[in-house]
Amino acid sequence: MKIELAKAAGFCFGVKRSVKLSKETLAKGSAYLYGMPVHNQRVVQDIVNRGGKLVEDNPYAASKISKLPHLTSMDEVPSGSTVLMRAHGVPVQALEKAREKGFNVVDTTCPFVTMVHKTAKELYDAKYQVIVIGEHGHPEVEGIKSYAPNALVVETPEEAKKLFLDKKQYFTTDEIMRETESGQIVEKLYYPTIPKLGIVSQTTQSNDNVEAIVSVLQNKAREVRVYNTICNAMHEMQPGAVELAHKADCMIIIGGKNSGNTKRQYELCSKITDTKWVESREELKDDWFKGKKHVGIGAGASTPDEDIEDVVNWLIEYDHRANHATPEIIRPAYVVH
Ligand code: SF4
Repeated sequence: MKIELAKAAGFCFGVKRSVKLSKETLAKGSAYLYGMPVHNQRVVQDIVNRGGKLVEDNPYAASKISKLPHLTSMDEVPSGSTVLMRAHGVPVQALEKAREKGFNVVDTTCPFVTMVHKTAKELYDAKYQVIVIGEHGHPEVEGIKSYAPNALVVETPEEAKKLFLDKKQYFTTDEIMRETESGQIVEKLYYPTIPKLGIVSQTTQSNDNVEAIVSVLQNKAREVRVYNTICNAMHEMQPGAVELAHKADCMIIIGGKNSGNTKRQYELCSKITDTKWVESREELKDDWFKGKKHVGIGAGASTPDEDIEDVVNWLIEYDHRANHATPEIIRPAYVVH
C-alpha cells in the first residue's frame, strides 16, 4: 500500500502562531481564552492543561465544546486577568470590552483574518452593502460582521439568488428619446436597487463556492467590488488535497468536526474519490482500506502533526496486519507552513 500526505496538511501559519502565543502566555501564569483558540479538541485540551480557562459566548462554537468546562460570558472573568483572543478573530465589541475592563489582552488573531476585518470596515465606511461569504454563525464570520454593521452573510449560491430581488424603474435620457409621438414610453429599463456591493469571504472558504456566489451577485448591483480574502494556507491546502484525491483510491481527511476548512476539504475530495473524515485514529475501520493500494491523507489547518502521525501509524499497522506488507510513505517535499 502507498500512503501519501497532501501538500500543506495540518497546522497553518495562523494556528501555529496562536498556539505558540497561547503557550508562551500560559508559561507566565494562568489566562482566559476568549473563544475556542483552534478547532481541535487535542490542542485545546493541551492548552487547558497548561492553565488556560475557556470563555465561549458564541452559540455556534459553544455547542462544539459542550464537553469542556467553560464560562459563557466575558463578564464572568475576574478583573486583572490575562485574556487571549482566538486565531480566527473576535468581534470588535469583545476586544473593546476586554480593554475597557482592563484585562491584559493578548490578541492572537491571524493577520489574514485581521486583513478581512480591515477590508470589511473600509467597504462599510465607503457605503458599500457588505456581503460576507461564509458560514452562518461561525465565530470568524461573526467577527468580520462586527466591522461592517450592515453586513449580510451568504453561505451558498442559492442564498445569493434570493437577495435583492427588488428593482427600481428608471427612465434614462435614451428612453425619453424613445417616447412616441403620442407620449407613450416604449422602453423602460430596470436597475437593481443596491448601488454598491462589497464582497469579502471567510478566510477558509473554497474558491469554487466564492466564485459561484460572486457570479450570482454580480448582476444584483450597479457596482460590485470583490476582495479575495481566502488565506494563503487555503490556497495551498485545498488544491493539495484535491490533487491527491485524483490519484488516490481513497482519502482520509483528519480534523475537528467543528472545523470549517476540514469540512470543505472533505466535501471537495468526496466529489472525486471515496473519502472519510475522522477526528482521530480511533475512528478508522479496516473495511475502508480493503483492496486499496493508494491512501491519501489530508488534514485541516487546526490538526496537529500528532493526529496526522497517529493515522499514518495506524495505516502502517493495518498494512502489516491485513496485507503482510510495509507501506511506502510519501510526504510532501514542500509544506506551506
Ligand atoms: S486558516 Fe488561514 S486565516 Fe485561518 S488561522 Fe490559518 S492561516 Fe490564518
